Amino acid sequence: AYPDIQPEETDVSQHIFGADKFSLDTPILCIDLDVMESNIEKMARYCREHGVDWRPHSKCHKTPAIAMRQIEAGAIGTTCPKTSEAEVMAQGGVRDILIANMVVGERKLERIAAMRRWADPIVACDHYAQVEPLAAVCRRRGVTVRVLIEVNIGLDRVGIRPGSDTLALAQAIDKLEGVELAGIMGYEGHLLTISDLSEKEEKIRTAMKVLVGCAESIRAGGIACDIVSAGGTGSFHITAQCPGITELQAGGGIFMDPFYRNTCQVKDLEYALTVLATVVSRPQLDRAVLDCGRKTMNPDIHMPVLAGDHDAEVVRLSAEHCELKLGDKSRGLQIGDKVELVVGYGDFTTVLHDEFFGFRKNQLETVWPILGRGKLQ
Ligand code: PLP
Repeated sequence: AYPDIQPEETDVSQHIFGADKFSLDTPILCIDLDVMESNIEKMARYCREHGVDWRPHSKCHKTPAIAMRQIEAGAIGTTCPKTSEAEVMAQGGVRDILIANMVVGERKLERIAAMRRWADPIVACDHYAQVEPLAAVCRRRGVTVRVLIEVNIGLDRVGIRPGSDTLALAQAIDKLEGVELAGIMGYEGHLLTISDLSEKEEKIRTAMKVLVGCAESIRAGGIACDIVSAGGTGSFHITAQCPGITELQAGGGIFMDPFYRNTCQVKDLEYALTVLATVVSRPQLDRAVLDCGRKTMNPDIHMPVLAGDHDAEVVRLSAEHCELKLGDKSRGLQIGDKVELVVGYGDFTTVLHDEFFGFRKNQLETVWPILGRGKLQ
């Protein structure tokens, strides 16, 4: 027989605002609000100072409340990878939303046209076969939706070939009713991790010249091409300085993480996203095991790194365990102690959680549901 437990008896809610971080149950995904706000301010300022708009990618947070903070700091809108995430952002009050991805299928196109009533989405495309059905849906619904041509500037993921193919697609879009060409985009994701910084800069500048050249030839053909969008956190310092780029999509820098710092060599932003965890086992003097594994933190792009004054290293993650190798200084860690880990790559970790716990000076200030989590369509 099961005990007769009432729901209220099991609801030991953690949402005690003002509570000390280290008093909360674990694992939880934590944002240092002061650090995140400072990163937002730095990214917004960098864009402002270089005369480019900031349309930060929201894939790292998937949370309208954070997108709205970016907009308050000067962002012009947000960038999303999926239609359903764009809907979440629109419902949360974001108006200018770039879906930086190809959208295919009648249902999604209907949703985008419907979204047009309370937001102003832009949809990326790299082929007429994506745009023509969108235009048809828009005509039927009596709306116009903006589109952006994605150009392949070397990433070799999606994107039309630069040059005459791009121009021909722009000309074809220009003739379609129901859609309006807003500009072009390209993503230099293949150049983020070049270790020689002058080589990195040179290659990014060359890629941006290709993109800007496409915009110029579209304009020379008498077609408006206002937006030239590019840039990620791993490259935005360089991309913002490239002549002709009008907006940056860099987003993840608001959390920063060891991938951006160590692999992409981005230096002037601070870590804002951590996982708070508990030591649950101390099998050996130099080994501790935490209650957070791959289902709490994704290690694919970069391993998590212990925060604070510990000489310990994450050596292995299994589904629900994180194994630390302890140096001399950290051997005092005991079962029940709490530690913080900087997540290796924020993007892939956010999607594992229902909520962000936002702290200021280690006191709980806010809990944000990650509303775009699971919005994959
Ligand atoms: N733009 C696009 C289309 C991307 O796919 C990405 C990353 O994958 C970015 C921009 C950069 O995002 P972030 O700054 O969060 O690394």
